[in-house]
Amino acid sequence: MPNLAILPGSFDPITMGHLDIAERALKVFDKVIIAVGINPYKKTLFTVEERIDMIENAFKDHNKRVKVDSFEGLLVDYAEKIKANVLIRGLRAVSDFEWELQLALLNRKLNRNIETFFLMTGYRYLYISSNIIKASAQAGGSVEDLVTDYVAQKLREKFPEAYKKSKR
Ligand code: ADP
Repeated sequence: MPNLAILPGSFDPITMGHLDIAERALKVFDKVIIAVGINPYKKTLFTVEERIDMIENAFKDHNKRVKVDSFEGLLVDYAEKIKANVLIRGLRAVSDFEWELQLALLNRKLNRNIETFFLMTGYRYLYISSNIIKASAQAGGSVEDLVTDYVAQKLREKFPEAYKKSKR
């Protein structure tokens, strides 16, 4: 059985929290597919192409063991298609648990061959989410240390006015 795991998410944009989870997953699994979910009903700041580009940039040194992809529709169908039977999800605070439990149980009901593994992020990243980073950047706040320099630059390009005002 190939030791292949999927880390699915919106990654709008990828944060140090996601990177931390991916690095932990790479200690256990030979190959990790970072899979950007395409959801036409979810409004995102970055396009799928922009999100993939930022993830690829973050993992440029791991090119053999990390692959970036996107999927539409059911995650379990995508997993079956690429012959992966492990889904990785990151856990932050207790608040993540209820939703993640529902998601894992639903995915199990949909496909019994696919297991969800939960990994705990490092303390430093417990409080970060893509949403809070976007909110900070939109108001001109620094996102240094919370995202890669490349992502920080992309956020500044999305919110040039806020950046000009704050000069951060
Ligand atoms: P979704 O839109 O599916 O919630 P996200 O892109 O927000 O996807 O996150 C993908 C995965 O990464 C989820 O399992 C989420 O809980 C996890 N994650 C996001 N931020 C962090 C963080 N700071 N620490 C640990 N896990 C995180």
